[in-house]
Parts: sequence; structure tokens; C-alpha cells
Amino acid sequence: MKGIFANIIVDISHEKVDRPFQYRVPDELIGKLAVGMSVMIPFGKGNKLIKGYIMELTDIPEYEVSKLKYVDSMVEGGVSAQADSIRLAWWIKEHYGSTMIAALKTVLPVKQKMKQVVKKAICCLVDSDTAFAKSEEFEKKHQTAKARLMRELAEQPLLPQLLVTGKLNVTTQTIRSLEQAGLIKITEENVYRNALPNTTDHHWKAIGKKQLSHEQQAVADAIIGDFRLGVRDTYLLRGVTGSGKTEVYMELIEQMIAEGKQAIVLIPEIALTYQTLLRFYQRFGDRVSVMNSKLSPGERSDQFERASKGEIDIMIGPRSALFTPFTRLGLIIIDEEHEASYKSETMPKYHAREVAQEICRMKSASLLLGSATPSLESYYLAKENKIKLFYLNNRLAGGELPFVHIVDLREELKQGNRSILSRKLKELLEDRLEKKQQSMLFLNRRGFAGFVSCRACGHVMKCPHCDVSLSEHRNGKLVCHYCGFEMPQVTKCPQCGSKYILGFRAGTQQIEEMLLKEFPKARVLRMDADTTKSKDSYEKILSQFANEEADILVGTQMIVKGHDFPKVTLVGVIAADMSLHVGDYRAAERTFQLLTQAAGRAGRSTLPGEVVIQTYQPDHYAVVHAANQDYEGFYEEEISYRDLMMYPPVANMMAILVLSNDELTGTCHANELADAIKSSFAKERPYVIGPASASIGKINDIYRNVIYIKHRDYHVLVRIKDEMEAMIAEKEWNTDTVQFDFNPMSAY
Ligand code: ADP
Ligand code: ZN
Ligand code: ZN
Repeated sequence: MKGIFANIIVDISHEKVDRPFQYRVPDELIGKLAVGMSVMIPFGKGNKLIKGYIMELTDIPEYEVSKLKYVDSMVEGGVSAQADSIRLAWWIKEHYGSTMIAALKTVLPVKQKMKQVVKKAICCLVDSDTAFAKSEEFEKKHQTAKARLMRELAEQPLLPQLLVTGKLNVTTQTIRSLEQAGLIKITEENVYRNALPNTTDHHWKAIGKKQLSHEQQAVADAIIGDFRLGVRDTYLLRGVTGSGKTEVYMELIEQMIAEGKQAIVLIPEIALTYQTLLRFYQRFGDRVSVMNSKLSPGERSDQFERASKGEIDIMIGPRSALFTPFTRLGLIIIDEEHEASYKSETMPKYHAREVAQEICRMKSASLLLGSATPSLESYYLAKENKIKLFYLNNRLAGGELPFVHIVDLREELKQGNRSILSRKLKELLEDRLEKKQQSMLFLNRRGFAGFVSCRACGHVMKCPHCDVSLSEHRNGKLVCHYCGFEMPQVTKCPQCGSKYILGFRAGTQQIEEMLLKEFPKARVLRMDADTTKSKDSYEKILSQFANEEADILVGTQMIVKGHDFPKVTLVGVIAADMSLHVGDYRAAERTFQLLTQAAGRAGRSTLPGEVVIQTYQPDHYAVVHAANQDYEGFYEEEISYRDLMMYPPVANMMAILVLSNDELTGTCHANELADAIKSSFAKERPYVIGPASASIGKINDIYRNVIYIKHRDYHVLVRIKDEMEAMIAEKEWNTDTVQFDFNPMSAY
């Protein structure tokens, strides 16, 4: 490709990323330009020269060539953090399939540049004695406001304007007159919005670091040793919760800073608690910044600006913190690397782990992944010696691993127990209440999402637009969780007329209600999507439980993520196999991870812990290995299943989702795509599954068809994607949207 046309985007910092403009590349620049470079281009009617960034070089003109303007010149030394971002966006677009605009919006999440908050201060221009003398002078003249201000300034030469006009009750007019007299001046200081509460509080003082154990030190030494030798690699640290991974992260960051480098730490949003952040602040003070989804665009913009100016060294945050524009990046850490939230659910559907690897390659940084239950992907790479594996085998705080009981729910039913609580779990709950110890009950499912079904004919009430079960809400209405459709509760089955049509009740709310009935004296807290909607409610529930204001915490997977409650000695898993039936190939892995984590919650201090896993499938390997906390055993069984079925990570899988307004067109197009793949790639022999209607066949009146393609070689899948994109563009299917998803986290 010669690259005689350049698609150029202007003015990214203001996020006017409307569309790229095409320019011709003059002969003298052909071969010299590259994606991400900044160039000067004539723009608008007046042909004013402005700066733009090259997003794409191509030989295909999008307009009449004679009407295209020429690129004016290259910007010297024009490699900026932004150019890096553009190159990364390009990589994401190529690798995952999306538009360039969508990719750019991903890597440049700052929506608009907000005005910074300006803090005004009154600054004394004379020395303390003079200021004092002046105040006496004003006092004599009965100019009490002036006297008051000068007296204060004699004590403290810089005062916030708000204090002066507020507490000191000095008018702006008075201030101006003192300014004219040359006694004071008003200074302005840009104040970055603070991403964290209380960062200026005195208790955020640096705290000395812990003496690392030999095990911990060895990991840190190996990674930093590589780095100093110029070796950049990906590392996986497997260590149970409480084995000291975070201490290793902090040690590495400190070493990186000593090397003049910066670091990004990804933590799933759910684990991004005050306690976690406090540890980083206590160690690194205001060189740390944090991002989360609650930040306003202005706050984000400030954080990114501070990062690009080098005012901070460490960025902590969820997935999107990956795109922090550091210029001296040395290390990316991904904690809890197995978490599904590291994969984007919107286009482009990128995985933070893979993008991090690319960023590290581009910026010559190291990548450290950490988890107690690594993703099959990472562990597979470690076993293949593609990444380096380290272990932390000992829990540093918190005692022995808990004792696990597996309860067969089928047996309970046979014995006449119809309750959600097995006899064992009930007995142990009673025991804990008596001993004033805490318990956690975990339900692998969203709160009040009971579906309504007919006990006579099995008919399930569904949303007419979305093809999903309607949920019965407290107010008695049936509601669709996708589109919000509502209808009153039915009293008769629309199918057979039977009056035995009931809600299936097995949500956290039902468990809470039942506990209150069974144990009237127990104090119960519930944590799920419904009780954590409002701001801070998540942290509030956690701290209430930590302060022992409740005996039992009931919740969804939120409650099993890395929080330390030393008084918890019992963990109950209500229905362990619920997550085995979600119908995708990661179900066993997810179940294993959740059960392992849930079990890890019990007995974190000197008190011994017990776990009750209730299940209809007590022999399932995910359940058995989780009960034994045996990652290796689980991995071996799971990887052989993946290999046999050609599932990731052994092979690769791409989902092609065809979204259409019209049912028939959607099916036709999906079929056309599948046929085209089979014929064009006959030689590569990919496995083509479908097309089929997605498990949710319709959302908001958009029909969803899905094709799955499996192949051992990722690049073949990328080539298929490229060819399909070209075909779709050529055929101008403007009624449909086609989305690609590489190694999807769940079934469509
Ligand atoms: P992880 O990140 O693996 O869950 P942490 O780093 O949070 O583990 O460590 C668990 C607990 O052990 C924390 O309370 C931490 O302060 C403590 N800890 C970690 N390393 C050490 C050490 N070398 N010496 C003493 N305590 C440590
Ligand atoms: Zn019926
Ligand atoms: Zn709906």
C-alpha cells in the first residue's frame, strides 16, 4: 500500500471526534507518514492551517479526488501521548472489529475538556510587620474590615478568598481597594478536582512499608530484575486472597518510580473500596490518582491531564484506567485478572488483559497479572511458557482454610425439607447466632428476579418485545429487565387457564424474608443490585457489616469479592449449581471461581471457618475442586474439556452478532455471512456454528442472530472478520448492524 490518501482527525482534545477528513498526501510525504503522526492541514473555508492526526493511510479515495485538499506538512517531533492513543485505537479496531470512532472513544474516554475549578487566594505583598502596622493604621481610621484582613495577613500571608469574604466578612470592594493600594494581590490557582474524598486529610499520611516475606520479595525481585535488564514480559502471580499480592504490587510500583517510571493498577470496580485505595495512598500519597465510573467528565479530564503532565505516577481504576496517557509507563498490574468485567460489553469488545499487553509492547512496559483463581487463558499461557508464573502459597493474615460441607439438595427434598435452607446450613446459622459470630449467605443470582410460570402447563410469562422472562416486582407488576415493559400480575394462565400461575421465588430478597421468619432476632443485611443502586450504598452496607451491626449478610456475587470480615465464620452458598446452567462454555470456570472465593470468605482470622455448599450436583468437578480449594485439579479437567470441544483458550472463537430491524432480513443476512465464510475460507476449515437466533432473540424490537466461528488460529478469525466487514460495506446493509466479539465471555 502506498498510502496516497490520509484520513485525518482534527482536534481530538476537544473530543469533536465527529469523523475523519480525507486529504491527499503530497508526493514528497508519501512513505514518510504513519498512523498516529500529527500533520498540519488546511481546514475549513479559509484553509486555516491546523493540526490533525493521521488515523488511516489508504489508496482508496472516499470522495472525488480533484476536490481533496493536500496535507501541508508533518509536525516535527510530533510523537505525543495522543499519537500513542491513536495507534492503540487503530490496533483495537483491527484486532476486535469496530469503527475507528468507537475505538478512539474507547482510548480517549474524556468526553469534553471541562473548565478547571479556579481557587482564588489573597496574597499579602508586604512583610508581616508592615501588615500589622497597616492594620493598626486602618483601625485608627475606623476602617475595621481593612484592619481585620491585614491583621490576619500579618499572621498568615496567603488566605483563600472564600475565607476572606466569608468568615472574615470582607467585601470584594474592600479587597479591591487594598489591592489598588499595593498591599495585597489576588492570585489564582488551578485546582484539580479531587478524585478521592479526603485526600488532603492529615490521616492520609505515609505509612511505612511492610517487610516482605521471602516469597513476596522473590517475586518482586524477579520482575524488577528483568526490567532493569531490559526484559519486558508478562507475569502471572497466583496467590490466594490474603497471601500478600497487593504488598508485592506496591513494592514493584515503588521500584518503578525509583526508575523514573509510572504504573497503572487495574482493580475491578467492585473491589475498588476505600480500604484498598487507602493502602495505596498511605504508601504513595498524592502521586496516586484514581478513576471510577462515578467520576464526572471533568474529574476524568483532570485526572488524565495530570497523568499526561507527569504530575502523578500511579493510576488506579477499572478497565478504562488502562488508557491513562502516561508518557513514562513502566508497569501495568491487573489484579483479579480473571474478572469478567475486564472485557468490554460494548463495541469494541476488547479485553483489558490483551490491550494491556499491546500497550506494554508499545511503551516497553511490563505486565503483571494477579489472581487466586487465574483465568484459564492466563494459566494456559503460563503452562505453555508464554508468560512467567509465580506463586504465593501462604496466607499472611487470617488462619486456616475453612472446612467445607457439600449438601445434596436432592437428598434434602427426599427427606421432606422443602426450604431453601438445608438442615446443615440452618443448624450452623443457629450456632453462629448463638455464638455472636457472623455469617454470609451467597446466592448466585440477581435479587428479586423471580420469573412467573404456570405449575399446570409450564407456560412462562415473557416480554412481547424482548423474548425474556418477565420478573415479578414487589409492587405486583411484571417487568422486563431489558426494555422496561410492564404489565399487571396475571391471575390465570393465558395458555391453559389454570389459576396456579406463580412467581419462582429464589432471590436474595426471598432469602432475607425467610431468614427473618426463621430467626426473628437475627439482624440481616442484604446486598444486591437493588440495595446498592444509590451512591455509596455499597460501601455503607459493607461498613455496617464490618462494624458488626448485622449477624447475617445475604447477597449476590458482590459479597464474595475480596472483602475482609474477620468475624465471619460461616459462609453458605444457597444453590451452587445455578451458575452451571447459564449455557455457555465458561460456566464451570465461573462457578469454580465464585465458589472458591465464597469459601475464602470464612475464617479469615483466628476463628475457624465453615462453608456449606448446597447443590443439586455434588459430584460436579467445579464444585468438588472448589470445596478442596484445588485450582490445579480444576484446571486440568477444565482444559481437557476446552481442548476436546475446541473452546478458548485452546482454540479461538468469534461471535458474529447480526442485529436487524426486520426478522426476515436478519435471518437472510446471517445466512449469507455464514455461507460466505464457509466458501471463502474453505481451505482454513473454520468451524461455523449457526446462524441461530440468539438466546435473547429480540431486544427492543431488534432481532438478534448469532454465528459462532471456531478456529485454532486467532489470525484466521481476524481475517474472516476483515472480509465480512468488507462484504457488509459493499452490500450496503444499512438496516443491520453487525458486531464482532472475540472469545466472548458469555453466550448471546
Ligand atoms: P492479597 O492482595 O493477596 O489479598 P494483601 O497484600 O492484601 O494480600 O495482604 C493480606 C494481608 O496481609 C494484609 O492485611 C497485609 O497488610 C498483610 N501483609 C501482606 N504482606 C505482609 C508482610 N510481608 N508482612 C506482614 N503483613 C503482610
Ligand atoms: Zn398454564
Ligand atoms: Zn422487553
